[in-house]
Amino acid sequence: MPTENSHCTAGQFPNEQVCMCNDRLQYHESSKVMHDNGVFYICGSRCHQHLINNFREIAFVTDAFSGKTISKSDAIIGLKEKNQPVLVYFENIKNFKNYYAVKASK
Ligand SMILES: [Zn+2]
Repeated sequence: MPTENSHCTAGQFPNEQVCMCNDRLQYHESSKVMHDNGVFYICGSRCHQHLINNFREIAFVTDAFSGKTISKSDAIIGLKEKNQPVLVYFENIKNFKNYYAVKASK
């Protein structure tokens, strides 16, 4: 039985290495910012400004498995494809795992 402990899950990586503004993996540490009671990770001041100016469009995303709208600040982040720096977001670890299980079975 898998536990709900979301840390150290294969395929998941630390939020500190993503930019939620352009949904890409960064190859350096990103900045953590608080906005509207959520924590967001962005790569720099330009993206921070973009996040503030376009908060509704950037902060919310559809869960790549369920299609439900979720806030990036609460989401579990994964990679859309292996070896590509494009991010996908999940509401919970169950959706995260299901997404990759479906991919693996194809
Ligand atoms: Zn950025």
